[in-house]
Amino acid sequence: MCKGNVTETKHTYIQEFDDCIIIIKNVPALVCAQCGEVYYSDEISEKLEEIVNRLQTMVKDVAIFEYDKVVKAA
Ligand SMILES: [Zn+2]
Repeated sequence: MCKGNVTETKHTYIQEFDDCIIIIKNVPALVCAQCGEVYYSDEISEKLEEIVNRLQTMVKDVAIFEYDKVVKAA
């Protein structure tokens, strides 16, 4: 957590569970220009958590989603 400038980017979010992996592409994120660390805003973090909790019950093995599509379905 340095104090570098952050810019908006798109990031691939990957969450592994015991029996499945959920991959969500093109998640809006913030990246630090100085150290390259990627952050999600509080709003996006909350949405990701909701989305992943919902998808986890439906996914077997590996599933890939587009953020824009799953967030609208919420
Ligand atoms: Zn940084």
